[in-house]
Amino acid sequence: MAEPARTPFPQTDGNGPRVYLHTYGCQMNVSDSQTIESMLADSGYRFSETAEEADVVLVNTCMIRETAEVRALGQLANLSALKKSNPTRVIGILGCVAQAKRKEILESHPYVDLVVGPDSYRRLPILLEERFISPPGSPGLLETTLMREELYDDIMPRHHGGVTAFVTIIRGCDKFCSFCVVPRTRGRERSRPLPSVLREVEHLVSQGVRDIMLLGQNVDSYRWEGRDFADCLAAVADLPGVVRVRYMTSHPTDISDKLLKTMGKHPKICPYLHLPVQAGNNRVLNEMNRPYTREHYLGIIERARKYVPDIALSTDIIVGFPTETEAEFEDTFNLMSEVRYDTAFMFKYSERPLTKASKQIDDIPDDVKVARLERLIKLQQKIARERNEAQVGRDTEILIEGLAPKDSNMWSGRTPDFRPVVMPQNGEQIGDLVPVRLDSLTGFTFHASKLF
Ligand code: SF4
Repeated sequence: MAEPARTPFPQTDGNGPRVYLHTYGCQMNVSDSQTIESMLADSGYRFSETAEEADVVLVNTCMIRETAEVRALGQLANLSALKKSNPTRVIGILGCVAQAKRKEILESHPYVDLVVGPDSYRRLPILLEERFISPPGSPGLLETTLMREELYDDIMPRHHGGVTAFVTIIRGCDKFCSFCVVPRTRGRERSRPLPSVLREVEHLVSQGVRDIMLLGQNVDSYRWEGRDFADCLAAVADLPGVVRVRYMTSHPTDISDKLLKTMGKHPKICPYLHLPVQAGNNRVLNEMNRPYTREHYLGIIERARKYVPDIALSTDIIVGFPTETEAEFEDTFNLMSEVRYDTAFMFKYSERPLTKASKQIDDIPDDVKVARLERLIKLQQKIARERNEAQVGRDTEILIEGLAPKDSNMWSGRTPDFRPVVMPQNGEQIGDLVPVRLDSLTGFTFHASKLF
């Protein structure tokens, strides 16, 4: 029987192959996917809304948490069905799972055509082209070399509209927290030249973006020609057309007072700090290879509140790390009560392959982890509710992001400290900064009225 014909490639007549790209995980992955889309668009590809309509189905995977990895790998079963329904369709697995489990994926999922790690996306158009001209059923292609210098800084990521955009300023991580796989899947830290960061922001502003989120696994280690992260943040905030700048993620070892003071001084830099603590006990922090103490961390929080009045704080916490005792968990619980975060992302420990912690026995029973996590979530919900309730009656301003999801007569936006707000429409435009009073609160969303 004749083999089904593949779509000819490349095509530059606007009828190129259609790509469906599904992204799991954090903002870094979303940002990477936009870079991939930009490269593919330049090579003549179009994009489809559904996998069924696509000639190429790509899944950008995440493995920072077990749940994200399980979800991404669970998707492989659907991909098998997609391949069966159209054997010429190209299936590619990208991202951290691709990097860490490259050979396993190709061996156990023979219908996968491409496995491409985060530093090899530049090769995607070539790999796809090779795949399109190779006979269906050929062994899958693997490209997972960790490129120390790869920054993708000459590529303008594809912006999907809206007033908010992510801009990656540093890739990789040198911290090697014992529970985290990122340094093994995304390689060592390298900062993007400041001029290329500014160029991308200017390009986004020209497309209607007002709110810039600077991204990196550890933005505080940003360094470029004697400029540090505080300099980078201020330079972005100084660009005409930028209304707000935020960033994520910080590390307690590297965050500087200079950064906190820059935040306090610059009106466009949002008063919001995501500072993962992970644990509130010094022995557990040491086990996690987080080289700071509880006291050091609390000192940063105190200075953040001094230099940036009304700053909103968020964090990441892991409970049930191997050997964590009940008393040590209480230290984390108490730290949460002391800091009073606005938001917290709380997880029970799960073993991640290739990490130092995966060599330890995961000795905390699941029911103990669940009980600790539930206590923490309950505490955080109470604190978040109280902190939100204290905002009612406050005058602030919101950046209008779009129509409210539940009422198209209302705008939806956020305060500078990132609280979601809805307000009645009254001649404003998306992207406007509007002075408002926070009148009431439903769940975690504020209802506001325009001040003047
Ligand atoms: S700082 Fe730690 S948790 Fe964050 S990416 Fe680096 S190794 Fe992972």
